[in-house]
Amino acid sequence: MSEFDLIRSHFTWPAPAARATSVIRGVGDDAAIVRVPVGDELLVSVDTLISGVHFPVDTVPHAIGHKTLAVNLSDMAAMGATARWFTLALSLPQADPSWLTDFARGLRELADQHQVALIGGDTTRGPLSLTVQIMGTLPQGQALLRSGAQPGDVIAVSGYPGEAAAGLACLQGRLTLPPTAAAHCRQRLDYPTPRLSLGYSLHRHGAHSCLDVSDGLLSDPRHILQASDTAARLDSARLPLSPVLHSLPIETAQTLMLNGGDDYELLFTAAPGDFAAIHEEARDLGVPVTVIGEIVAQAPADPLLCLTTNWFKC
Ligand code: ADP
Ligand code: MG
Repeated sequence: MSEFDLIRSHFTWPAPAARATSVIRGVGDDAAIVRVPVGDELLVSVDTLISGVHFPVDTVPHAIGHKTLAVNLSDMAAMGATARWFTLALSLPQADPSWLTDFARGLRELADQHQVALIGGDTTRGPLSLTVQIMGTLPQGQALLRSGAQPGDVIAVSGYPGEAAAGLACLQGRLTLPPTAAAHCRQRLDYPTPRLSLGYSLHRHGAHSCLDVSDGLLSDPRHILQASDTAARLDSARLPLSPVLHSLPIETAQTLMLNGGDDYELLFTAAPGDFAAIHEEARDLGVPVTVIGEIVAQAPADPLLCLTTNWFKC
C-alpha cells in the first residue's frame, strides 16, 4: 500500500457536522486551513504516545486510536476549551491493513463523539509511535489556567484516580484484583475518558484553575501551586476511593491514587461558594467530583503540598 493509499483509505473522512464549515482545507493539501471563530483564541497542544512507554505493547489497536486522541482532548478539557481540529503524525513499523482499520476506528469514534475533525498529518515508517496535535478555541482571555488558584479555594478531582494505575499493576503482576475489577481497571488504562463537558462546565462556573491528572494526585497539583504561588493541604481520608479498589488495603489504594498516572481526570480549584453548582452540574453529566483539599497562602518555610487526615469538613 502506498503512503497516499494508506492516508486516503484510513485517515480521510468528512469533518463532523459541527466542524464542517470551519474546515476550509483538510487532509490532502500541503497544509490544512481552518477558520477560527471571530473573537476566539486558538489553543494548541501536542502529545506523543510510544509503544511500551505510554501504553502496554499488547494494547489493541482500537484502544491505541482512542487513547492517542483522548490524552490530547484531555488537555483541551483542562483549559475549558472547545476541541475542534487535530492532526496525526504516525510512525508505523509496517502498514498492516487490519491494524490500521482498528486504530482508525478507535480514533474516529472518539473524534466523532466530540466533534473534532482530522485535518492532516504525517506518515512515516519506524518504531510504533503516535502523535496528535489538538487545536481548540475559547473566547479571548477565558482559558482555565494553572495560575489562577487562590487561598481558600477548594481543590477537587473528577472520577476515581488510581484505576488506570491499578490496571497497569495487574497487567504487570504487581497487584491482584478480582477479575471484574481488574478488567474495569484495564479498561480505564486503555480507554481514558476525556472530561470535556466537565471542562466547559468549570469554565462557565468560574473555576479558578485546572489541569488534567496524568502523573498522580501527589505530583500534578504542584504545577498549580507553583504557577499560582500558593500551597495546599490534601486530606488523604477524602481521596475518592474507587468502588473497584475496595478490596485492597487502604494504603495500597492510596498509593495508587496518589502516585498512579494515566487517569486523565481533571483536578481543579474553585471558590467554595461556586463548588455546589459545579458539583451539581457534574452529577448531571454523570461525572463524580470530590473535594480533596484546599488552597492555602504560601508561607516561605511551608511545604508546597501537605498531606493530612481529616482536617477539613464539607
Ligand atoms: P507532504 O509531502 O506535503 O508532507 P504528505 O504526503 O505527508 O504531504 O501528506 C499528504 C496529505 O495527507 C497532507 O494533507 C497531510 O496532512 C495528510 N496526511 C499525511 N499523513 C496523515 C495521517 N496519518 N493522517 C491524516 N492526514 C495525513
Ligand atoms: Mg508530510
